[in-house]
Amino acid sequence: MKVLACDGIDPAAVRLIREAGHEVVEAKGLSAKDLVIALKGVHGLLVRSATKVTADVLAAAPELRVVVRAGTGLDNVDQSAAEARGVVVRNTPSANTLSVAELTFAMLLALERHVAEAAADLREGRWEKTKYAGRELHGRTLGMIGFGRIGREVALRARAFGMPVLAHDPRVQIAPAGFDWVKMTDRESVLGDCDVLTLHVPLTDDTRHSIGAREFALMRPGAVLVNASRGGVVEEAALLAALESGRLRAAALDVFEKEPAPADHPLLRLPNVLPLPHLGASTTEAQQRAGTDAAAILIEVLAGLPAH
Ligand code: NAD
Repeated sequence: MKVLACDGIDPAAVRLIREAGHEVVEAKGLSAKDLVIALKGVHGLLVRSATKVTADVLAAAPELRVVVRAGTGLDNVDQSAAEARGVVVRNTPSANTLSVAELTFAMLLALERHVAEAAADLREGRWEKTKYAGRELHGRTLGMIGFGRIGREVALRARAFGMPVLAHDPRVQIAPAGFDWVKMTDRESVLGDCDVLTLHVPLTDDTRHSIGAREFALMRPGAVLVNASRGGVVEEAALLAALESGRLRAAALDVFEKEPAPADHPLLRLPNVLPLPHLGASTTEAQQRAGTDAAAILIEVLAGLPAH
């Protein structure tokens, strides 16, 4: 069968699909019009985040049977239009887990040891030792909202740093096997009893703006926030106010409500904010894993289709 691989899918993924006997055409930066042309006769489509698989694109590709997004979100695929046309849509939710968990800790350590600012000063010829006195993580309590794949990997790393862990997740009432040292508790207790709050929830109607003024008011003075989930989970105006007033000591943010975050975004100007351009999944390993996971899913779905 014919497969279109867009957005620079990892070469190992392309190799796997060819080895399974399919023809693979690779394409990058296609306009919606060119995408429709390229989809002629295509049964399987592999995308990362750039290609937009809209209802119009799906309507113009009658032979398409499966769309696999190499990555976590499915924001660039119109899932209801695909479902209506009988097109299978899948993603690779586990591929980024370790990279995001590691970045969460990279941000936390960088925030508490002023890594980025000290390096920037030194590059300008300023040897600042006292200005950048930091804080250890050991003994400080990590509070987590969301205890799924990424949350659990973050908890394991927190344990290695000697941090007690509290977590809230409505779908995980009891600590899973192997995590009996994590205290699963209610949301208010996590917010009120942690020194570091990390967020690991999807963006849904329930979680949108779920961390706002009320939540910041519940947190300990001196607490810090790390958000590597989705920008919309945090109410940015309330975060700005909490950081400006000192209610929240500092925040590290990999995600923003609107991305790319505009250059004049007020959160980017605060000295107690470490901002990153959504780097969570940007590692060689995560991209390779996303590609090979996506290829395996695509091969499996194509194998289940009636022969043409
Ligand atoms: P997951 O589905 O394994 O876990 C999410 C958990 O959140 C689930 O256990 C769910 O029950 C819980 N949850 C849902 N609503 C909740 C609520 N209101 N309060 C508390 N918990 C709630 O997902 P994951 O793989 O751990 O990923 C978590 C999130 O990380 C993703 O949804 C995505 O938004 C984000 N992410 C970010 C990057 C990045 O580049 N920064 C990359 C991948 C994923």
